[in-house]
Amino acid sequence: MLDANALKQDFPILFQEVNDEPLIYLDNGATTQKPKQVLEALRNYYESDNANVHRGVHTLAERATADYEAAREKVRAFINAPSSKQVLFTRGTTTSLNWVARSYGLANLKPEDEIVISYMEHHSNIVPWQEVAKATGAKLVYLELTPEGQLDLADAKAKIGPKTKIVSITHVSNVLGVTNPLKELADLAHEQGAIIVADGAQAVPHMPVDVQELDVDFYAFSGHKMCGPTGIGVLYGKLALLEAMEPIEFGGEMIDFVYDQTSTWTELPWKFEAGTPNIAGAIALGAAVDYLTAIGLEEIHAYEERLTAYVLPKLQAIEGLTIYGPTDSTQRGAVISFNLDDVHPHDLATALDMQGIAVRAGHHCAQPLLRYLDVQSTARASFYFYNTFEEADQLVAALNATKEFFNNGPI
Ligand code: PMP
Repeated sequence: MLDANALKQDFPILFQEVNDEPLIYLDNGATTQKPKQVLEALRNYYESDNANVHRGVHTLAERATADYEAAREKVRAFINAPSSKQVLFTRGTTTSLNWVARSYGLANLKPEDEIVISYMEHHSNIVPWQEVAKATGAKLVYLELTPEGQLDLADAKAKIGPKTKIVSITHVSNVLGVTNPLKELADLAHEQGAIIVADGAQAVPHMPVDVQELDVDFYAFSGHKMCGPTGIGVLYGKLALLEAMEPIEFGGEMIDFVYDQTSTWTELPWKFEAGTPNIAGAIALGAAVDYLTAIGLEEIHAYEERLTAYVLPKLQAIEGLTIYGPTDSTQRGAVISFNLDDVHPHDLATALDMQGIAVRAGHHCAQPLLRYLDVQSTARASFYFYNTFEEADQLVAALNATKEFFNNGPI
């Protein structure tokens, strides 16, 4: 099993006090912390290699370009994409999903066509499709969830039909912690001649992802949720689809020839990457990929499974604590949303913060899901490989203390 205590040493930010207590960072679903290796990659780039890519012939420009493209190759290998032409750098999952919706969606949908999503989507996998539906007359169809909070596959089989043109589903839910059966959904979509888009924001950081094995047409994820910096993300797509698609942004870097009235585009992947890209971000994402690969995604996944199996029953044992999503730890990952009695989640998160513990509270950018669960907001603890079992114990103790505080007033 990986040594969380040893790995934690790589993350300088984790060694600080918050409200006079040692920080316990359990908001990894929102963003993860960055190891020294990634911080060094950012610093090295700006200290030694900073130059614009794909343009200059001078040494720094060549170095920056080589490192930027090497990062793309690292990402390609990480998700087992067939070619680095299929790995587009974006700002993050949101941008990746918007690109698919606007470039593929607007060009391929007509009135009465259906876009199938689910009730457990993040807003970034809902709102772009609502906009495309408005513009094209296509219909947005929602897949139901089972009472345990899993995607209802029977409903998927019933709703993915001849009218379906796009299925867009999260790989792992940022609220319920469940992993969806992407390959089965891909098969269902493909049988109907539809394409499948996956939101991998909460999956890629936590488990091995092989886009070819999953047979997804598009796959989106964010660097900042996998130890990389903010402002960098990835869109993977099948080659024929990307080749047929029009870019979303136009300008420098993405052109071949520019005439007075028209222009032609350069080849993939640069066709989509207009303007100066986030060079440092991409290079640091490459460093994050190296870092995670050295630990091993199987190892990370196995560790998080054990941590979930350890902490979930302890949380369930707290009277008045409601957990959303499966209560069986083998059915879910280390993203745990909950409410405690009638304490408002913001008060709960504030009380935990007073004890040094960072969790998130709110609707988690999943308002349709919270409405579906009939709850206004929840608190959420989301773990990563640098969270220790002791930290999990401290969360449980802090929740018990908080419960006491709200029940009895200050002691
Ligand atoms: N999808 C899911 C499942 C997420 O958890 C998030 C981030 N909270 C996103 C999409 C959006 O990612 P980003 O803000 O990095 O674009």
